[in-house]
Amino acid sequence: MVAFDVPDGGAEGAVAAVRALHLGGLMVTMPHKAAVIPALDSLTPAAQALGAVNSISWVGGTLVGHNTDGEGLVRSLRHDSEVDVARRRCVVLGAGGAARSVVHALVVAGASEVVVVNRTPDKAAVAAALGGAAGRVGQVDDIVQADIVINATSVGMGAPAGASGPLPCPADSLRRGQIVVDLVYQPIVTPLLAAAAACGAQPVDGIGMLVHQAAISLERWTGELPELAVMHRAARAG
Ligand code: NAP
Repeated sequence: MVAFDVPDGGAEGAVAAVRALHLGGLMVTMPHKAAVIPALDSLTPAAQALGAVNSISWVGGTLVGHNTDGEGLVRSLRHDSEVDVARRRCVVLGAGGAARSVVHALVVAGASEVVVVNRTPDKAAVAAALGGAAGRVGQVDDIVQADIVINATSVGMGAPAGASGPLPCPADSLRRGQIVVDLVYQPIVTPLLAAAAACGAQPVDGIGMLVHQAAISLERWTGELPELAVMHRAARAG
């Protein structure tokens, strides 16, 4: 794997280089996730719905854009925590790129309800719409009802590990029996996950999603499932 520093405005040129150099594929980060789209031959349904691509691979001689973030979360819950989101009531905190990808993937995986709670209501409405009939905008009061709470805001990023610190929702909206996922993975044990553990909820950190969204791309590029345990160890070692 090689990292290329692509300046803003250079996304289409980077995709042209994939074709010219016959590269196996690309991961795509901000600010290029939407800008690469016109240069691709097709998009997966998730990338199409989200208008954002984080991974590019070859399929039958054509370049396809994928969005693997949400799928990575659903897979990590299933493989690492034995949690199936089907028929579960989910609350997603946040409405940015990660939140939108998660809303879409939860509904595709059969979640019965996906409620978006976000600081900026207009953005919450856009994210909730990706959930179709299962998606709606909610309020803080909805959190306690959820089976699965997923923090997709950046609140908690950079906080001291496991310490008290800023929370994306009130601590008393978490409860015993809930699954509480934090997409923030720096620190790995965020203040939210510490609060979840303290009230008897099941905390799930963001490393699993990080590993699985990358593993999905590696599998598409090479045709082989990578060593997930090795990836987990490397990600946890920082
Ligand atoms: P983004 O597009 O910038 O969205 C950030 C979201 O956080 C927005 O909904 C924003 O609310 C909310 N927010 C920010 N500060 C807030 C505050 N002080 N109080 C309440 N809400 C606040 O970012 P993103 O790309 O979606 O990423 C979100 C987080 O997920 C980041 O920490 C990122 O590292 C993590 N992430 C993890 C993985 C993984 O594999 N584990 C993958 C992707 C992202 P407004 O809409 O009101 O501004």
